[in-house]
Amino acid sequence: MAITGECFCSEVRYQHNGQLRDAMSCHCSRCRKMFAAQASASAFVEPEEFQWLSGQHLLTTYMGEHGYGIQFCKKCGSTLCTVHKDQVFQIMLGCVNGDPEIEIGRHIYVGSKATWEVLPEGLNSFEAGFR
Ligand SMILES: [Zn+2]
Ligand SMILES: [Zn+2]
Repeated sequence: MAITGECFCSEVRYQHNGQLRDAMSCHCSRCRKMFAAQASASAFVEPEEFQWLSGQHLLTTYMGEHGYGIQFCKKCGSTLCTVHKDQVFQIMLGCVNGDPEIEIGRHIYVGSKATWEVLPEGLNSFEAGFR
């Protein structure tokens, strides 16, 4: 199954030829800032199954610690993926088109969630990481 995704302005597009894995949402303060939202929502990909279809010249990388970075569209600001050593290893679910046939299985770092975020009952949640 091929999954496609694109940024808000639609110039950056990608395809993933396989199933996404391990979808999760992180509620830590860093993810809040990074995604300007209450939490991140991401899933893992196989780097070999991921390909950019268009707009790669608009991709900008913000490098964080330990060689991990995020890539976003410099025209519209959508964050599309996280990278490690120039390989895409996670995509942000908000930019996926349609149904990626995966659900968020874990909510992590809910111990540091924003005071204004109200979490529904019964979430599979972890105060910090899950290891
Ligand atoms: Zn864009
Ligand atoms: Zn986080």
